[in-house]
Amino acid sequence: MSKTLPLLDRLKKVRSGSAPAVTDGAQRGLMAYVAAQSDVGRATKELADGTAATGVGRVALSGLSPRGLACSNGCAFCCILSGDDGGTITESEAVALHRALSPLSGQPDGRAWHPDACPSLDPETRSCRAYDARPMICRAYVSTDVEACKAVSEGQAANGPGTLGPYHTYLAAIGLSRAALKGVKRVSTYALSKVAAAAVDGASLEDTLAAGRHAPSELEAELKRSKRDLSRS
Ligand code: SF4
Ligand code: SF4
Repeated sequence: MSKTLPLLDRLKKVRSGSAPAVTDGAQRGLMAYVAAQSDVGRATKELADGTAATGVGRVALSGLSPRGLACSNGCAFCCILSGDDGGTITESEAVALHRALSPLSGQPDGRAWHPDACPSLDPETRSCRAYDARPMICRAYVSTDVEACKAVSEGQAANGPGTLGPYHTYLAAIGLSRAALKGVKRVSTYALSKVAAAAVDGASLEDTLAAGRHAPSELEAELKRSKRDLSRS
């Protein structure tokens, strides 16, 4: 009998707050992820820190090949982040960003190019300095029109940019992980901008996570936005 059966039982019974079809896909992905593990402690940790949700999202993303994208290296209007949050990321993504960015502490960052740019950005080349560690929200955001991205970065509405479906699957997987681990382990989400800013400012990992940690209601709100966006598409 698999040692992860109790976790699978928990996962089977919960829902995410996202759209039913997206939740079903995320649930299948998470259950396959957990079933493939032989160590229940590790499986629990990877559900809690979002490694599992990120894995599910990345597998879904790897199966897509959207056409007509305008995205290229050095094109960075999408790295101008509105508000002080910048988007939802998991703990494993926050840790990976800290690992990539903390050695760059003290160097000019994206904010030298644009005051609202992501601190992970290189202000000269406008490429991501944490490319391999960039979170799901960055991987899944694409566009067919650079000018539309520029308009959106200036606060205008425009057609062209959008978030690919696997981002919604990833969010649902985080919601399912939290629900399945209720009373067992905390599942936190983090603010991309705050994590990147603390990391480039030289904060310790512990302080970076404390600076970026969301209130639990942030994930619930993001899941509601996701559900609304999906119903419009
Ligand atoms: S999403 Fe927009 S701004 Fe970002 S790389 Fe693609 S075209 Fe450029
Ligand atoms: S992490 Fe990298 S890709 Fe994502 S917003 Fe920041 S600079 Fe852009």
